[in-house]
Amino acid sequence: MDAGAPRASRFVRASADAPCAIRVSFEFFPPKTAEMEQALWEAIARLAPLSPNFVSVTYGAGGSTRERTHATVERILAETMLTPAAHLTCVAAARAEIDAVIAAYAQAGVRHIVALRGDPPGGAGERYTPHPGGYRNAADLVAGIKRCGEQCGGLEVSVAAYPEKHPDSPSIAADIDMLKAKVDAGARRAITQFFFDNNLYFRYLDRVRARGIDIPIVPGILPVQNFKATRNFAARCGASVPAWLAERFEHLDDDAATRKLIAAAVAAEQVLDLVDRGVRDFHFYTMNRADLVYAICHLLGLRPHQDQISVRDEALGALPLPGGERVGVRGLGR
Ligand SMILES: Cc1cc2nc3c(=O)[nH]c(=O)nc-3n(C[C@H](O)[C@H](O)[C@H](O)COP(=O)(O)OP(=O)(O)OC[C@H]3O[C@@H](n4cnc5c(N)ncnc54)[C@H](O)[C@@H]3O)c2cc1C
Repeated sequence: MDAGAPRASRFVRASADAPCAIRVSFEFFPPKTAEMEQALWEAIARLAPLSPNFVSVTYGAGGSTRERTHATVERILAETMLTPAAHLTCVAAARAEIDAVIAAYAQAGVRHIVALRGDPPGGAGERYTPHPGGYRNAADLVAGIKRCGEQCGGLEVSVAAYPEKHPDSPSIAADIDMLKAKVDAGARRAITQFFFDNNLYFRYLDRVRARGIDIPIVPGILPVQNFKATRNFAARCGASVPAWLAERFEHLDDDAATRKLIAAAVAAEQVLDLVDRGVRDFHFYTMNRADLVYAICHLLGLRPHQDQISVRDEALGALPLPGGERVGVRGLGR
């Protein structure tokens, strides 16, 4: 970037009335306990007024959260104005079982599915063997979802993409061939695995475009809520953690307040650089926590929208929003 040129990230929202140029989506995971359920809905209540493009709900390893994912997506549909996207994997299920899950989503009013192969039941790193009567990989699943969607007027499908290549993939070229197969099967958006070095994303984007793939490749942003957990998770899914990032969290094990400030600064630096280099869509891995994501979205020019806030009655389960205001998302807590 020309050092003298104005930074695009300073102008994402030119005035209070101008619409924000940035679009975001938020990823949540289905809660296991009542306490986690409460945390999830606090996060949704805080983030919903930012009018995300969609919110997605993950599908547990081995299909372990099938019911909980469905229940969470249904509750989002019933109690908020958000557009949910349900994650779905091929793991440990026959085609007919997966088709039944897709049909149940369609029946409930879901129109967007994030199609994934999933990891082997023993975890990432083990050899993946498709279910004998199941979908072989994500491209096969995309085709199945598109077929099932014909009954309900169509289903939008997003898929995963890997700027540092998927660990199972022999090469980045083979990995991009797989992305091409997913697009050819009907995927209309790819969401990337998280990364911390933006150059990796742009190098990947160049290769994807050179392969003739023109769908949006939305960067997946992981605010570092917990550095050690992030490093372990990154090692399992083939994402690199640069030395500079480790250094930023050094000597802060007993200092949660500073860790949080550093996490916000790291994520802000990353997303503002992406904006300066032309990115306008972001997918946030929220880990069911709103505060860092809310702050980053605020930096990106997003402000709460009144039409996402329809209940202002504490008795109806209003939850605290940043700034001490208490609002409820439609019907929350009914
Ligand atoms: C945005 C996002 C959301 C996710 N959500 C979930 C979720 O909700 N639940 C969940 O369980 N997991 C989730 N994952 C993780 C994902 O399931 C794993 O990364 C999985 O291992 C691959 O799934 P995929 O859809 O990318 O697979 P695919 O696109 O089918 O394959 C990924 C890559 O692996 C290579 N590959 C696949 N099979 C083989 C093979 N047999 N031999 C050689 N190479 C092979 C291909 O080159 C391909 O590029 C998510 C990942 C991302 C990035």
